Amino acid sequence: MKIIGLIGGMSWESTIPYYSIINEYVKNTLGGLHSAKIILYSVEFDEIEKCQSSGEWERSGEILGEAAKVLENGGADLILICTNTMHKVFEQVQSCVSVPVLHIAEATADVLEKDGRKTVGLLGTKYTMTQDFYKMRLVSRGFEVLIPDEKDIEIINRIIFDELCVGMIKDESRNEFSRVIAELKAKGAEAVILGCTEIGLLVKPENSVLPIYDTTVIHATVAAKKAIE
Ligand code: GLU
Repeated sequence: MKIIGLIGGMSWESTIPYYSIINEYVKNTLGGLHSAKIILYSVEFDEIEKCQSSGEWERSGEILGEAAKVLENGGADLILICTNTMHKVFEQVQSCVSVPVLHIAEATADVLEKDGRKTVGLLGTKYTMTQDFYKMRLVSRGFEVLIPDEKDIEIINRIIFDELCVGMIKDESRNEFSRVIAELKAKGAEAVILGCTEIGLLVKPENSVLPIYDTTVIHATVAAKKAIE
């Protein structure tokens, strides 16, 4: 069995599901007492968020690159960056290690492709929704990507950082997500990507008029599969 290295803590609320999804997959596939081999490097999120909001992406890439090296030296055979947003520095992190870092958007594109989706809505932080680093991965795989309007980008981003990243789950925020997803559907989306690893803590399939693609579930499952193949 391969060892999975997780760069987590962004936020730690969303790292917990990674741990359980990977272990559930291994248990359900291998049965008995089987469980996953995982090494977790959980970063100090305040440091990372300050880099994001001040635009010091290079610095955040160095921090995550160091974490990746620690995981590789500890024996990790593959690595996950447990956040969509920080895939902005994916190349920088990958260049620090020789083991593969599994890209969350590529993993998601694989599942969307398998399901024959073409036009997808994308929800995530303002960085993920408005910048190219994430969307272009999907566009280059042939998908049309729709994002909410400016006002809703702000609302979604605020809910992620002020509530979900600190463990706050509110009904009124869930309703906001449901509303935004319905608007994406009206614009032509056939499915919606929960492109932020905390959104699945709030939004479940029954809260969405579109089929949801939860990047946390997809990313963690791909890693679990690779670890035992
Ligand atoms: N976990 C989130 C994501 O998937 C947001 C936190 C962050 O900025 O890394 O994008």
